[in-house]
Amino acid sequence: MKNILEIKKLSVSLGGRDILRNVSLSVAPGEVVAIVGPNGAGKTTLLKAVLNIVPYSGKISLLGKEINLKDIGYVPQYFRFEQGFPITVAEFLSMSFPVPDKNKINFIMKETGILKLANRMVGELSGGELQKTLIARSAIKEPKLWLLDEATSGIDMASASEFFDLIEKIRRKWGGGIIIISHEIDVVYRLADKVVGLNGSLVFEGEPEKAFSETSLEKIYGKDFRFISKK
Ligand code: ADP
Ligand code: MG
Repeated sequence: MKNILEIKKLSVSLGGRDILRNVSLSVAPGEVVAIVGPNGAGKTTLLKAVLNIVPYSGKISLLGKEINLKDIGYVPQYFRFEQGFPITVAEFLSMSFPVPDKNKINFIMKETGILKLANRMVGELSGGELQKTLIARSAIKEPKLWLLDEATSGIDMASASEFFDLIEKIRRKWGGGIIIISHEIDVVYRLADKVVGLNGSLVFEGEPEKAFSETSLEKIYGKDFRFISKK
């Protein structure tokens, strides 16, 4: 089947520095691609290029066409509401365009396991609850491609397990392609079909089993990785 996302020879420079060089990458329907790499490797920048919010050279296409943001569900790495922000989860979900009807919002809240959060204030959600709320809000537009930037960092084991189920649901029921950035080995093992190691350029691509061999990790994280792993 045709790839959902196709990135060809992507390069990004920001503030006069080369952040990404010549990165090519594809995501098939229902495929979960995990991106791993050290801080500053350009992982978030790659997602921002797909979202067309940083200038880039190269070609990025979604189902053979130019990227249309309505086809993308994006859960950013850093996002927080002010504590007293005066809207509820249900109200936040209804702030989408086109405005979804009540049935749709209820359906999505049920599917994403946040029905019990409907009347909570968004500023008071825990990290895991907020992640699920952001995923639910994206799900309303039924994206073809999901971009999840370190969505599991800072959530506990129980929330992580619910998160895994949610991703499985996105993959099976909604059939979208998924790019997930994560530092957590268990997340990558559980979810990814393919792992991409990024450090400015693409340094590795393969199955999760191979991605975590010592040589791959050394390629991705550099020689210091060994030092850490053997301590
Ligand atoms: P990662 O998500 O892999 O940790 P990022 O993509 O956030 O890395 O950042 C990659 C590099 O690009 C970092 O060195 C960061 O400081 C730099 N960078 C990010 N955004 C900008 C910007 N707007 N201008 C200049 N440099 C930037
Ligand atoms: Mg990042």
